[in-house]
Amino acid sequence: MSDPLVPRFAGFGSTIFTEMTLLAHRTGALNLGQGFPDTDGPPELLAAAADAVRAGHNQYPPLPGVPALHTAIAEQRSADYGTPYDPDTEILVTAGATEAIAAAIAALVPPGDEVVVFEPFYDSYGAAIALADAHRRTVRLRPVHDRFTFDPDELAAAITPRTRAILVNTPHNPTGTVFTADELAQIAAICVRHNLIAIADEVYEHLVFDGVRHVPLASLPGMADRTLTISSAGKTFNATGWKVGWVCGPSRMIAAVRTVKQYLTFAGGTPFQHAVAAVLPDRHAWLDDLRARLCLARDTLRDALSAAGWHCFSCQGTYFLQADARSVGYRDGTGLCQDLAVQAGVVAIPSAAFYADPEAGRELVRFAFCKTPAVISTAASRLAAFAADRQEGASRWRPARRSA
Ligand code: GLN
Repeated sequence: MSDPLVPRFAGFGSTIFTEMTLLAHRTGALNLGQGFPDTDGPPELLAAAADAVRAGHNQYPPLPGVPALHTAIAEQRSADYGTPYDPDTEILVTAGATEAIAAAIAALVPPGDEVVVFEPFYDSYGAAIALADAHRRTVRLRPVHDRFTFDPDELAAAITPRTRAILVNTPHNPTGTVFTADELAQIAAICVRHNLIAIADEVYEHLVFDGVRHVPLASLPGMADRTLTISSAGKTFNATGWKVGWVCGPSRMIAAVRTVKQYLTFAGGTPFQHAVAAVLPDRHAWLDDLRARLCLARDTLRDALSAAGWHCFSCQGTYFLQADARSVGYRDGTGLCQDLAVQAGVVAIPSAAFYADPEAGRELVRFAFCKTPAVISTAASRLAAFAADRQEGASRWRPARRSA
């Protein structure tokens, strides 16, 4: 029998995260690949989930999510960003951010129309666009003084009469860029000029460092009526396996997303929704501590790598740090990641997986630093030793200079 997979999914294969986590299991390497924390969220969150199970919250929740979570989300967004949402009509709880993204594109982008994404992009974007039978147009992020950003002219040039939506991820996976108010204003101006929908994937909204502030795209002038903002309790509360996400936006857009979402999963995660509702109002102490721990992990990893000769890029948010394979003598991040797993005992992600054109991200690798201090410092020493070995090897093999 020929391949039963429909052609528009050919090439998606299994995700790089699955592949690299399998490699970590097979080799026993430390897993700095797939982005999941190796410690739990706040104890109150875990206790609230157990309580909710025992209290009998074990059947379908209402399609849009449990009302207590809607109220908690509305209060959090007003307090943190000054963006008001009606808990009854402007918030939809989803099976993680992944479902929100897929349902939003399927609901709002007609087949054949275009979605603009910044490249590199989170891998589910390509699949979600394919699922909707829409087309993807990419705008490249490139490092300027080691911070990835876009050229506003390239963004303007990517818009065509078929462009329906722009998908914006800030803080950005895998580059660690947090878009500035200026960058967001450029994106907003394009959306307003061309009457585009914005889908803002802000799952790392709370994970920002060095005094950098996350600004929701929806808070910019002219954007509230056209923007869906997507969040994830998985990222905010170290609970990636719970798959509780949500999307906030104007009621007509939320109603459209809800129509699609109800036929994907209908609804789920009832006790987890109750638990998130219980702790969201008390998020501040947890988030201050989480940011401090992540910042320390980033610094430990980056400082050790840089001292050993790795070239690292700037990271202002998320829990990902990118490095350049060429700085340790490789042309190709995929080959480097294979060798790192086996020779250094550390798994990373080749960032080529985040590019429509893998050649464009060929030299980049991504490390996830959402791990305990012990794991981070062991991984950092191993990666430093790997770089030192490579440099020794390189100097042994360097051809002798001919004298003049
Ligand atoms: N978002 C996580 C990452 O970027 C992985 C999620 C997944 O495994 N699909 O590493």
